[in-house]
Amino acid sequence: MVHEPVTVHALINGEKVDTKDKITRENPSNPSEIVGYAPLNTKEDTVRAIDAADEAFKTWRNSSLEERIERMQRAIKRLQDSQKEITELLSREHGKPVYDSEGELYVSIAWMEHACKTAKDVIGDDVREDENGTTIIRHDPIGVVSAIAPWNYPISLSTIKVAPALLAGNTIVVKPSPLAPLAVTMVLDIIAEEFPPGVVNVLNGEADVGIELTSNPKVMKIAFTGGTETGRKIMEAAAPTVKELTLELGGNDPAIMLPSFDPNDEKAMRRLVVSNFLTAGEICMIAKRIYVPRSMHDQFVEKYIEAANKWVRVGDPFNRDVTLGPVNNKKQKDYVQELVDDAQANGAEIHTLGEILDPELFEKGYFMQPTLVVGAKQEDRIVKEEQFGPTVPIVAYDDVDEAVHLANDSIFGLTSSVWGDDQEAIEVAARIEAGTTMINTAAIQGLDVRYEFGGVKQSGVGREYGEQGLKSYVNIHIINNPNMKDLPHIPE
Ligand code: NAD
Repeated sequence: MVHEPVTVHALINGEKVDTKDKITRENPSNPSEIVGYAPLNTKEDTVRAIDAADEAFKTWRNSSLEERIERMQRAIKRLQDSQKEITELLSREHGKPVYDSEGELYVSIAWMEHACKTAKDVIGDDVREDENGTTIIRHDPIGVVSAIAPWNYPISLSTIKVAPALLAGNTIVVKPSPLAPLAVTMVLDIIAEEFPPGVVNVLNGEADVGIELTSNPKVMKIAFTGGTETGRKIMEAAAPTVKELTLELGGNDPAIMLPSFDPNDEKAMRRLVVSNFLTAGEICMIAKRIYVPRSMHDQFVEKYIEAANKWVRVGDPFNRDVTLGPVNNKKQKDYVQELVDDAQANGAEIHTLGEILDPELFEKGYFMQPTLVVGAKQEDRIVKEEQFGPTVPIVAYDDVDEAVHLANDSIFGLTSSVWGDDQEAIEVAARIEAGTTMINTAAIQGLDVRYEFGGVKQSGVGREYGEQGLKSYVNIHIINNPNMKDLPHIPE
């Protein structure tokens, strides 16, 4: 079916703003089809959006928490009502199958609802009175927040920032990625309409917009999700004006299969396959390297391939039988292929997985048949680097201490997983350097928005979701009225 291209606009101070130059978003399943156009905003637009957010903050900061929650709940209702339109557009511009887009919107809304439900307890003001006097623990808004999101989960990685920022009384300027700007802009427009002008501003564009958003002195906090290299630049840009930072960066998440893992457990094996290939592997928290006991290796590979062949069905994102769509863009596809070729040149065996449902479409788009890289070595690029695509290496280990060492041998530490006997897995999990370690599951399957999510080492700074996901958008402000106002040890 041919779709008319959609056009989204920038939103500055409640007004839709057009630009002469546009970002053209192609359909990754069929790049000759244009899905839509987003504005190509400039540094000047960015300054205007930040000024608008700064002006709106002067009154929005005084709104009550009740009012903010009520407005957010109205926005949630409207997002639910627009689910079909949003998720279909997301699949067309991104390449992820429709079930996966629905999953993304579902997680986004689950977090928005949870943030509304817990806001009063977590960031409501708190008064403590005892024999020492009265202390008011205020949770003041920080000011103008810049939110910058990547292309892989554009909606959830924007709303993860927007919901707590607004509930805390901040104003925000959001910049999605040019590689998936359309559906998220639609979502942000809906949210913005429920708030006063200037509270939510949306820009699209390239790094120049990002650079202004991370260096402008009026911006008080940066909430960024994206690659580690960009994260480093953002830290530098934020340093002169000492901005608050939440950085969710790259990951290279290990999955350790313990000797107690049963390769004949078909459900667990399918879960592992999903942990490797959901969203064509383009998730920060996907299991990106599998460590298997050497004694189990050959049986494991055989059972893994069996399970993957059942689950992996590559094709048109709008075909409900399809589990994997195309890779989002050509650069990413070429990079993943480069890592696979490098591993093969170093002696690894490459096994293609699953079925291609529509060979003609496969040739047109940025499709890749998923691969299992057997016989990879720890020092291979495919093990060391974040592949962010439909391939996964298996590395054999001799004992569990070695597996823990290999898992921790990385600049990254986002999520991780340990598979086998629950109790043993929990003990091994405690030795992994990561923000989250999941037991007998991995990736989004083990995500729980009630608890903090984020990375250690070069996977990031700070946490999203959970209580911290709200608290990182407030300044704790203590108003102290002690009974004893003079200290006894200070001489008269
Ligand atoms: P990216 O770093 O290339 O881009 C992310 C965003 O930053 C985009 O909107 C981009 O336009 C903007 N940007 C680029 N240069 C900038 C600059 N100098 N200043 C400010 N903004 C700038 O990342 P990507 O390719 O869109 O996303 C993939 C990466 O994101 C992967 O490394 C993945 O692991 C990571 N990621 C992390 C998480 C997490 O929660 N930790 C989640 C999803 C993705």
